[in-house]
Amino acid sequence: MTITGRCFCGAVRWESLEPPIVTRWCWCRECQYLGAGSGTVNSAFRTASFKITGKTTDWASIADSGNRMHRQFCPACGTPLFSTAEVRPHLIFARVGTFDDPSLAKPAMTIWTSSAPYWACIDPDLPKVEKQPPPAA
Ligand SMILES: [Zn+2]
Ligand SMILES: [Zn+2]
Repeated sequence: MTITGRCFCGAVRWESLEPPIVTRWCWCRECQYLGAGSGTVNSAFRTASFKITGKTTDWASIADSGNRMHRQFCPACGTPLFSTAEVRPHLIFARVGTFDDPSLAKPAMTIWTSSAPYWACIDPDLPKVEKQPPPAA
């Protein structure tokens, strides 16, 4: 099963030879910047079977956990595409809005609900974690 995606303008493309390990809806404060007011929905893939074509801009920051995180964007259209943590180089998180078929990724959990604004729509049927959940794998 190959899953493909791209940024808004198409300058960056990606593909994974495997389905996502897990998909989560994240309401951390950082994701609200990226999500334009909403949280973000992200799928974890194995880096080993994940390929990116095209140039991305990398922005690094230190997370609340102390981990150094990288976030990658398309330098042409600004679409947020990926995030990675230096402590877990075997995983890459792709923003589900960049999937060619976003229906292939269904959130299994909502995380960082403690950071969500009171008007956030949070699926009552999904498990909720107030802050950071344990690592995907
Ligand atoms: Zn682009
Ligand atoms: Zn987040």
